[in-house]
Amino acid sequence: MKKSLELCKTLDELKQLCLSCQSCELAGTRQNVVFGEGPPDAKIFFLGEAPGAKEDETGRPFVGRAGDLLTELMARAGIDRQNVFITGSCKCRPPKNRNPRKSELKACFPYLERQLAIIKPKVVICSGLVAVQNILDSKARMADVRGRWVDLPHYRILPTYHPAAVLRGTVKAELLVEDFQRVSSFLG
Ligand code: SF4
Repeated sequence: MKKSLELCKTLDELKQLCLSCQSCELAGTRQNVVFGEGPPDAKIFFLGEAPGAKEDETGRPFVGRAGDLLTELMARAGIDRQNVFITGSCKCRPPKNRNPRKSELKACFPYLERQLAIIKPKVVICSGLVAVQNILDSKARMADVRGRWVDLPHYRILPTYHPAAVLRGTVKAELLVEDFQRVSSFLG
C-alpha cells in the first residue's frame, strides 16, 4: 500500500485510494471513509481521533457537536476553520465510538503521512490523546504535553485537548482557545 500511496501527488489522488481502502477491520463496519477536508495548501493541519456517528454518516470530519464547538473555538482565536485541513488519525469509524486500536492506527498511518507530505502544513494541532500518541509519542500524557510546541523538521506540533472533552465538561473551553491563539500568534 505504502508504495501506491507514495505515487499520489495530489490530495484528490490520495483520497480516491483511501475511499476504497480495506487495510484494517474498520473497513467492514464503516458507512463512509472520512478522508478529511480543507485547502490542499493549508498552513494548519488539525488532527483528531476517528470519525463518530455523524462523520461516518456524512463522510465529513468534525460535523457533530464537537465539530460545531471546534469551529467556534477556532473563530475565538482568529482561525477560520475553512483555512484548516481537518482529519482524523483513523479515517473510518470504530464501532460504538470505541478508541481506534493500535493495529488500526498503524494501518491508517500511511494516509496521514502522505497527507502531511502533500499539504506541507506549518503547524499540526494534535487534538486529544489518541492523536498525540499517534503522531508524537505513544507514551505521552496530555498533562505533560498540552500547549507545548514540539518542533519537527518540517512542521511544529501543538498538542491540545479534544473539543469533546469540553462537551463532557472535563476541560475548559478557554484552554483550547488559548492553544489555538498560540497557533495564530505563531503564524502571524
Ligand atoms: S481506518 Fe484507515 S486503514 Fe483502516 S480501512 Fe479505514 S482508511 Fe483503511
